[in-house]
Amino acid sequence: RFSTVAALDEPITPPVRVNYTQLLINGKFVDSASGKTFPTLDPRTGEVIANLAEGDAEDINRAVSAARSAFDEGPWPKMTAYERSRVLLRFADLVDKHNDDLAALEAWDSGKPYQQAAKIEIPSVARLFRYYAGWADKIHGLTVPADGPYHVQTLHEPIGVAGQIIPWNFPLIMFAWKVGPALATGNTIVLKSAEQTPLTALYAAKLLHEAGLPPGVLNIVSGYGPTAGAALASHMNVDKIAFTGSTDTGKIVQELAAKSNLKPVTLELGGKSPFIVCEDANIGRAVELAHAALFFNQGQCCAAGSRTFVHERVYDEFLEKAKARAQRRTVGDPFQKGIEQGPQIDSDQFEKILRYIKSGIESNATLECGGDKIGSKGYYIQPTVFSNVKDDMPIAQDEIFGPVQTIFKFKELDEVIKRANMTRYGLAAGVFTKNINTANTLTRALRAGTVWVNCFDVFDAAIPFGGYKMSGVGREKGIYSLHNYLQVKAVVTSLKNPAW
Ligand code: NAD
Repeated sequence: RFSTVAALDEPITPPVRVNYTQLLINGKFVDSASGKTFPTLDPRTGEVIANLAEGDAEDINRAVSAARSAFDEGPWPKMTAYERSRVLLRFADLVDKHNDDLAALEAWDSGKPYQQAAKIEIPSVARLFRYYAGWADKIHGLTVPADGPYHVQTLHEPIGVAGQIIPWNFPLIMFAWKVGPALATGNTIVLKSAEQTPLTALYAAKLLHEAGLPPGVLNIVSGYGPTAGAALASHMNVDKIAFTGSTDTGKIVQELAAKSNLKPVTLELGGKSPFIVCEDANIGRAVELAHAALFFNQGQCCAAGSRTFVHERVYDEFLEKAKARAQRRTVGDPFQKGIEQGPQIDSDQFEKILRYIKSGIESNATLECGGDKIGSKGYYIQPTVFSNVKDDMPIAQDEIFGPVQTIFKFKELDEVIKRANMTRYGLAAGVFTKNINTANTLTRALRAGTVWVNCFDVFDAAIPFGGYKMSGVGREKGIYSLHNYLQVKAVVTSLKNPAW
């Protein structure tokens, strides 16, 4: 019944080699201090793609001291903003040039469809670096009219050494969202990639050096969260920490930051975003968009439209079409053409999703289609649709992070607003209606960092992204992200004759 177009047991050989497996510290690839390595696995088979140097606290120390010297002694923060901007632009050109290799590595390491990486994700990385290259020489403070004989100005200075911890679902996009603004504002960086997907960060960092980034400005430590990640978050010589991942880990990172040197923290965390289909919506389009909002990237999106609310008058038609669409979804080898869905990232996520499907069945939601794994190898899951879902079921409250659409029925606008906001998260929301008043009412009432109206998952470099409530702290992308990496210094100069 599902359109599995590739033979899942015979993975297609990815058209790329793994060239970089060591840590990148002070512009050089080096082994970890302990000599330890860890494997990164192919989600299609669970087999090892490569073994990588495994960084821990000692490697974080080495990386932080390289970043500290590169910040304190330059040349990076002292270069002209125009020169920094040129490095970022050259890097964006190199990303374009290496698009296919980066996309192949990304698809191999994460299981996402190669075409998605090649046509959407890697080009958006180049675009984001060009966007921040444009900002580099447009960052300036104010002159402030204070009481008294003073000349007052504010200087916007880089914050120093930035620690950055990223997840596995969009490895290179997450790299870009963090590294782009931090470099544009003149900071130096230690980045810890996700242990499931360490390959593209190393490749991209190599390209940044080729583009002219001085050694020590960007250091990459591959490794695990409780060792390398925690050491970075609690480091006394790190001036700021930016984290994307689960809400539980976000809390740990904030605590580590507070208990060490009170470094400021930005957090991009989980979500359980409502997608609201009003009675006047074009149902065919709403079905397609709601499908994409949930199933994109194997359902592994923090912003996924994971609670589909449908008005009772159009519910039956919507449900029938949503189910048919899920059954048409093409699942298979990410390197096969025409594939919409690859495997989930790893066995932990795979098992977790299957547990949630079981919990949905046990709590008497109606399983419309899917509900099981596909094949005997790797982490493929059938596109799954539940209807008759109630707000208090675990599948309605928790982040499943998989290809499981849950559909709810509503009657009144006030009711759906209340129910849509009845979650600990507040990352995003989708609204589908032709009525401008309905759209205006919903966009203002929904407690979420992004509300998409008649569209979803629009991630332009200029549009800020981040969460209300337990979906996070602060915003990334756009002009807002620059402020995460800047200190404001007030300089107050007496206008009285200095001869006294
Ligand atoms: P995770 O929190 O386990 O891991 C994310 C990163 O944190 C990894 O690099 C990991 O090694 C590191 N980490 C783990 N434990 C740590 C610790 N004790 N100290 C420091 N670092 C630690 O999350 P995950 O399960 O790998 O990723 C999926 C989650 O990320 C989902 O909940 C999803 O919603 C969220 N996410 C959010 C966004 C966003 O922008 N809001 C984007 C992508 C993913």
